[in-house]
Amino acid sequence: MRRGIAVSPGVAIGTAYVIHEIFVNPDTKRLEDSEITAELANYETARDKAGAGLRALERKVEAQVGHDEAAIFAVHQSILRDAAFTNKVRNWIVDERMTSAAALHRLLGEYTTIFAKTRDEYLQERLNDVRDVIIRISSHLSKVLDPNANAIEGPMIVVADELLPSQAVALGEIDVKGIVTQKGSQTSHAAIVARSRGIPAVSGLNGIVRKVKTGDTIIVDGRNGHVEINPNSETIKAYRKLEREFFDLKDQLATNRDLQALTTDHVELRLQANINGTNDAVAAVAMGASGVGLYRTEYLYLTHSDVPDENEQYKTYVKIVAASPNHNVTIRTLDIGGDKTVAYLGHDHTEANPFMGWRSIRLSFEHPEFFNTQIRAIVRAASEFKKGTVRLMFPMVTTVEEIRKLRSMVRRAYKTLNAQGIQTKEVPIGMMLEVPAAAVSISNMIDLVDFVSIGSNDLVQYLMAADRDNPKVAHLCQPLAPPVLIVLKNVIETCNTANVPITVCGEMAGKPRAFVLLLGMGLRRFSMSPAFVPSIKQLASQISVEEAEQILTSVMKFKTTAQVKKFMTRTIEQIAPNLKMLSME
Ligand code: PEP
Ligand code: MG
Repeated sequence: MRRGIAVSPGVAIGTAYVIHEIFVNPDTKRLEDSEITAELANYETARDKAGAGLRALERKVEAQVGHDEAAIFAVHQSILRDAAFTNKVRNWIVDERMTSAAALHRLLGEYTTIFAKTRDEYLQERLNDVRDVIIRISSHLSKVLDPNANAIEGPMIVVADELLPSQAVALGEIDVKGIVTQKGSQTSHAAIVARSRGIPAVSGLNGIVRKVKTGDTIIVDGRNGHVEINPNSETIKAYRKLEREFFDLKDQLATNRDLQALTTDHVELRLQANINGTNDAVAAVAMGASGVGLYRTEYLYLTHSDVPDENEQYKTYVKIVAASPNHNVTIRTLDIGGDKTVAYLGHDHTEANPFMGWRSIRLSFEHPEFFNTQIRAIVRAASEFKKGTVRLMFPMVTTVEEIRKLRSMVRRAYKTLNAQGIQTKEVPIGMMLEVPAAAVSISNMIDLVDFVSIGSNDLVQYLMAADRDNPKVAHLCQPLAPPVLIVLKNVIETCNTANVPITVCGEMAGKPRAFVLLLGMGLRRFSMSPAFVPSIKQLASQISVEEAEQILTSVMKFKTTAQVKKFMTRTIEQIAPNLKMLSME
């Protein structure tokens, strides 16, 4: 049994499909003279098949998801056509008698060494694209690595170093029951994809790709991060039972899709979804969210090599709102910086403390042309819809002056659009509360905004001075830490007293223990990963606001995070024993 980080709840048993096997165990065979021509042909065939696969994927994603999301596959095709890329592989096959697989492995090694010299996130992403293309060609060199070859019997558990963008998209096509990755944390790409599809997943399992072979039986326990390789029949039997419970629970929860989220004392809650693109919007509808509480626009920029123009942004936002539940969408302006960077906006990676540096609106303010364009595109998209409400939200707000400046930029956007003859609708303007300074001075800010949304992922890391992505300080970066609860309670009460709508859109909103405490604090709007909506709706229907308030009163007396966690784990087990299968440590 091995233990990693639980990143998506549930239990699955299946057959391992190891995606990066080829790179972990490179082929050392030297070709005979007589084999070289055939090997070159093998490579060309694999390259052709990879190209055809990418073209098909591009068309499919374009039709089903959108033009922007499909663009990445056009980039991959151009890498595939790159002469330098292919010439190197051909030369190594001919001159050094390497197999195609070994040559591709060496090519990846070369690119990795070159790219290692840069800390530019954009370039690092391009390395991921090259890796993706290499893996794609390799999958056609070996039948066992080609998911389309049906090499796997029965339910598939994907085992990978990390999940690449094209693999994440392809997961929608293949019947994947579980995901295990070496790299990654709760906020990584694989984790977000797994959660939005309701697939149990475990990450951070160092060395797992070497331990597991394609065809091994594997158990994924997304509740506690356990993974078992080739377990004995007793363990399999026990897990089969748990797996059935997991499926039954999911089926049962799916029936609450069209129900309102109500507590036992009939208090109505808004359970909304956090999305990054159109397919998440579709998932939000499927999971019964009442709207989108956070649309992160970063993805649109990360997939472009330059600032997308106003029309392109406008069209994307319209498409997202059209696909979202009840056309209720809170669009957040670009939150780049920190761990996510876009080279064309001037990131040079020399900041000593990027999370406390030039990110979010701080960066947007310095690119007024780009910032105004985004605000105009959002206002235009919002004005398109008669039903529902599109809201405009600004991340990382720290001072009152910033809000004033933001409001004046929005006013200017209305003026410019109206002068061009474009009709506009009044768009509610809100701030994300994720900086401790804003939490402390919230009473000075609420008169200036139409709504507040707590970005607890960042707020917790700043309050506890503990990086949200650094496993070494994960014990400090805890949303259930008493100081965090004190701050959240104060902000929620202040907003409620002032009648300013308040939401929590950080990860904690979808976690049962935190959800109950937030409910007790007076929160009625929650925004979470779409997959968590059904279980939180169910949990809400098993608790009253009064009970949640009593639980909160007990918890506020605790002085340590461990006490809060222990008490809340027991409490949730009592209130909702039926949801145990979906809990995560
Ligand atoms: C947050 O900080 O809680 C949040 C929702 O935003 P992000 O995770 O994109 O920083
Ligand atoms: Mg944030």
